[in-house]
Amino acid sequence: MRGGRVAVVGGSIAGCACAAVAARQGADRVVVLERSPGRLRDRGVGLCLHDARFAELEAAGFLDARVPRHRLTRRRWLVRDGAEPMGRPLWDQPFPFHSYHWGLLWQALRERLPGTVEYRSAAPVAAVTVEPDRAAVRSGSSPGFEEYDLVIGADGYRSAVREAVCPGVGPRYAGYVCWRGSLPAERLGGAARRWAPEHAVTVCFTGGQCVLYRIPGPGSGGPLLNWVLYAAPPDGALPPEDRASVPTGSVTGPLADHLAMLLERHLPPYWARVIALTPPELTSVQPVHDLAVPRRTAGRLLLAGDAATVVRPHNTSGAATALNDAGALEAAWRAAGSWPELLSGYAAARDSAGRELVALGRRLGAAQVEQAPDWSTMDGAGTVAWWEQQVAPTGFGGHALAR
Ligand SMILES: Cc1cc2nc3c(=O)[nH]c(=O)nc-3n(C[C@H](O)[C@H](O)[C@H](O)COP(=O)(O)OP(=O)(O)OC[C@H]3O[C@@H](n4cnc5c(N)ncnc54)[C@H](O)[C@@H]3O)c2cc1C
Repeated sequence: MRGGRVAVVGGSIAGCACAAVAARQGADRVVVLERSPGRLRDRGVGLCLHDARFAELEAAGFLDARVPRHRLTRRRWLVRDGAEPMGRPLWDQPFPFHSYHWGLLWQALRERLPGTVEYRSAAPVAAVTVEPDRAAVRSGSSPGFEEYDLVIGADGYRSAVREAVCPGVGPRYAGYVCWRGSLPAERLGGAARRWAPEHAVTVCFTGGQCVLYRIPGPGSGGPLLNWVLYAAPPDGALPPEDRASVPTGSVTGPLADHLAMLLERHLPPYWARVIALTPPELTSVQPVHDLAVPRRTAGRLLLAGDAATVVRPHNTSGAATALNDAGALEAAWRAAGSWPELLSGYAAARDSAGRELVALGRRLGAAQVEQAPDWSTMDGAGTVAWWEQQVAPTGFGGHALAR
């Protein structure tokens, strides 16, 4: 099916990938409406992509090896043990992933968009209408509604398009947050040699965990150390009605004090030092949410990426899931003879995959944060058995593209 006018609301990972699909499949006009005025930088920092997912996404034309990435091979699980600087190793898990800088990944997807795609920055969509045979959007930069044959909601976990597809459905706060940060690896000086570059690290403690790995840095400044520490925040530290992220540079007061307390009480000295070296302007807090929509299409509206599926970050599948949505959209587009066929083919391909990933993220969050075991009693075999119980039968790192 070729031709037609397509609007993509949101120009981040899912939005760029879906716009590329629409252009490749021969839509006459593809417009991306992105709320942010400039480059998208503030989406956390590091993310990991399973090597098998990368291979599929490369074959499908979404990514290539020119995107800066850092190779990881093992994930070392550690627990604090007295004054032992690095902690007590529990398990060296095979970890066939590469890490990415979120901003560099987005930039690569953005640069791959053909010149025929009109990418409008500073274009927040204020209203969306559902019609059986067309859809319309009103964005801040235009006076009235613009009509399209298809509107793709790739506008993230607080999606405005989702409100039109399934009113009242929104992300659910998991009851804990992640503090995240990054710093140039050179800040660690000679001590960096004690941490193998290809190792990701998970420090376990009762009530939370901290994941650390290197990522490519922007420019020629060398790699960054990226960390994410999960735990419940102190009471009252987040406004209850709107548990929004606390952006970089604004983590102060009880949230900063609580992080310092967690480092002192739970992390082995080496890893506590890595985090303590992080400048406040590179530290943020993100409440953990999850969401699987009851349906991802309505009329000529379709949801992709975090607008449809918010998976807790433990599964390292956010970007892969968004890109897989675009892959499924492309397969449905190729097979469809009409817009309704395209919409129903896409929904059939992605509905259950999204729900399975959300359920897996909940299992991982419960086991690793909410009901984490007493680590002082755990050994290597116990840790492997504990992990296997969480990931079976789904596996880890996102579904294959065909799902
Ligand atoms: C604060 C935050 C930090 C994150 N950090 C990480 C991380 O470090 N690692 C990781 O793997 N994943 C992270 N994620 C998740 C990750 O960003 C997504 O899973 C991934 O980028 C795919 O998401 P997406 O493109 O569907 O949505 P998003 O990346 O959230 O993009 C949605 C886009 O829609 C735009 N938008 C929203 N509303 C409107 C509107 N009304 N009109 C027009 N545009 C609109 C937004 O400006 C944004 O650019 C983070 C998410 C958030 C919210």
